[in-house]
Parts: sequence; C-alpha cells; structure tokens
Amino acid sequence: MNNFEEYCTKFVQSVGNKEGSVSPVITNSASFSYGTPEIAEAIFEGSVKKPLYSRMGNPTTAKLESTMAEMDGGVAAVATSSGMGAITMTCMSLLASGDEIISIGGLFGGTYALFSETLTRFGVKTHFFDVDDFTKIQDAINESTKIIFLESVGNPNMRLPDIKRIAQIANDAGVILIVDNTITPLCISPLKLGADISIYSTTKIISGNSSALGGCAVFRAVNEEDDKLKSTRYDFLAKFIKGAGKMALFANAKKRALRDFGMSANANASYQTILGLETLPLRLSRISKSVETVALALEKNGLNINHPCLKSHPHHERYLNNFKDGCGTLFSIDMGSKQRAFDFLNNTKLATLTANIGDSRTLALHMASTIYRDFDEETRKFLGITDGLIRISIGLENPQDIIDDFMQASK
Ligand code: PLP
Repeated sequence: MNNFEEYCTKFVQSVGNKEGSVSPVITNSASFSYGTPEIAEAIFEGSVKKPLYSRMGNPTTAKLESTMAEMDGGVAAVATSSGMGAITMTCMSLLASGDEIISIGGLFGGTYALFSETLTRFGVKTHFFDVDDFTKIQDAINESTKIIFLESVGNPNMRLPDIKRIAQIANDAGVILIVDNTITPLCISPLKLGADISIYSTTKIISGNSSALGGCAVFRAVNEEDDKLKSTRYDFLAKFIKGAGKMALFANAKKRALRDFGMSANANASYQTILGLETLPLRLSRISKSVETVALALEKNGLNINHPCLKSHPHHERYLNNFKDGCGTLFSIDMGSKQRAFDFLNNTKLATLTANIGDSRTLALHMASTIYRDFDEETRKFLGITDGLIRISIGLENPQDIIDDFMQASK
C-alpha cells in the first residue's frame, strides 16, 4: 500500500464522527464556562481536561490537532493561526537572547526574514547553510545552538535535504531538529527520520483551496528516562519533562509561546482545514503525478525547469530513494530574465498569479519582484532566486491542459 492509500483510510476515518454529527462540530466560542470554582481551579491546574479559553485550545481545533499528530506519528500537535505562526511559536518556545539557530537550505521568504532580521532584534543569531554542507553544519554547532531548522523541500529552490543524515547530526549533538514539512508526511515523515518537531503551513495543500489560513506544529514523544532534551542546553524543559512527561515539547510550546504570543487557530479555520485533510491523499496523489508529467514535458520542450524528478537535478537520486510519492506541488521555471518571466505570466491563461502554493488551481509567481523583493543580491543568490525565476504550484487541472498553456505562454 502506498502512502496515499494508507492515508485515504486514516483521514476519512479519523475526521468523521461515528456518533452524532458526522462532520466535525464548529465550536465558535472564545471562552468556556467552568460551572464551579473547584472545576475552574482543576482546569487551570490541568487535572481536569476541559476547554480553558480558546487562545489555549478549542474543541474544533483539538480535533484538527489530534488528526495532525496521528498523521505525523507525533504525540501531540498545536494548531496556529498561520504557518508563520507555527514557526514563530515553536522557535520562541525554545529560544532566549544569546541563542543560535542553524538554518539549512533555501527557505520560504517569511522564514528567512524571521531568522535573518526579526529574531536578530531579540538577540538570536542564525547561521545559514546549504543542504549538503554537512561538515560546516556539524562544525557550527556550539553550546548556544538550540535549533536546527530545515524545509523538507526547499521553497522555491527545490533542493532536497538528507533529513535522516541531518537528524543524526542533530541527535548526536543533542540539538532539536525542526522540519518545515508543509509538503506533508504523505511525501516524507520527518519525525520517523529522527526529527523532533514537524511544522506545517496548513494554508497550502492541507486546506488546499485558499479558504483557510493556518499552521500546525507536531511534537515527538519525549523519553522520560533517557532523552537528549534532558541536558543543560534545554534546562528550561526540565519542569515540563517532570510535569508533562512525553508531552513535554508540546506543553512547553503552549506555555512558553502560544499562551503569551497568542498565535492561536480559530475554530472556523480549523474546521475548513479538517475538511481539507479528508481529501488530501486524493488531491496530492493526482498533483504529484501531474508535477512529474508537466515538469518532464516542459523540460523536453526546452524550458529550464527545476524539479528533482528530472535527471538534470542534483538531488534526483535522493528524490527517487527518499520521496517515494513525490515532493509536493512545486517546481520552478527560469525564463532567463525578468522581462521573459513577465511575458510568460501575462500570456498564461491557466495559472492564477498569487503568493500561495498547494491550491486546487495551478498558481504562478515571479519570485524576485514579489516575495524576495526586499532581499539583497547575495541573499537571493543563496536562496536560488534568479531574475527570471517563476515558481509554479501545480493544481488539479488536466496536466495536458497545463502543458499546452505553458508552452503557448513561453513562446
Ligand atoms: N512554510 C512554507 C514552506 C511556506 O511555503 C509558507 C508560505 O508560503 C509558510 C511556511 C508560511 O505559511 P503561512 O502563509 O500559512 O503563514
């Protein structure tokens, strides 16, 4: 059984209720009444598991969180108001002034800006490396390193990290590895490869139709007896390991970030996202096939395509061996110049021009003039942003229609 078939069963079964309403219930309440002061005390203490206040958790969101945790093989999840919210929550729960991050690979612009600009204002330094800089990554780890961060497929540079090898480095050094796995575990499962936390922008292929902004962080179980997290590097986690046991990373994220920064998911977005999960395997399996079909056809017709399914890509072997069911909805086209890229985008009748990815529709965007416009030349070079680069996110359309449209647009 491939991943898609397995998840088809898992998702529809865990989303639909077996009693009462089949579709998940939307609990549109910001606050919850406790009834008695004794119950209020017990809820705040944690001995009674009932909703406290929607910033700290909502029943609809809890349904999304349990499905996401199951999807990833994690012990618990926290859904957030956006993918950036999930990244910020997770990082802020682990960092203090003076700490360091090791960031691997080309990153989505928002994450790059968070690391290179915003977090520096709070005294956190980030070192950036290419996915294959294994020795440099290892050498950069010191006692201030709290996080190693990577994207399971570089957006938009399409480089694929060897997650297992990097997880080995992180685990040997006793450092937390966070993977932005917005492409979902249907393509690759970071927690099973040794990562500690998986992050999602659920806005993308998980919701799948531009209807809900959202994010989620999924946490691995902490081993209460013997875990790399029981070290002076993470001394602030000790009280969570004592109090929450295997749920320590989850409890830490809620108490040290979600509670105070407040990037909580809302019930309506959580509901829309749960509906997305129901059909995710069907949509992603179709899109994964279409991505390969379209990328191959366009390359054959002379376009400069960047996708690891192509033999010309440096991580083609890694793609075949580690990403058995594709690596998401993206590829890029380098049109050679900004003018040629703009001509293509003005000529396409099929692609929707927007900053999103992972939609039911095919999307396209010129990178240098939009998401990466504020970065200097050196940074753009590191992130693989050339003047003619267009990011494409393939949708559910007939792949031949996409090929025909893109060929006429590139003339
Ligand atoms: N991670 C990746 C890989 C993304 O592509 C994006 C958004 O484009 C994000 C995170 C941020 O997600 P959101 O827009 O939901 O905040």
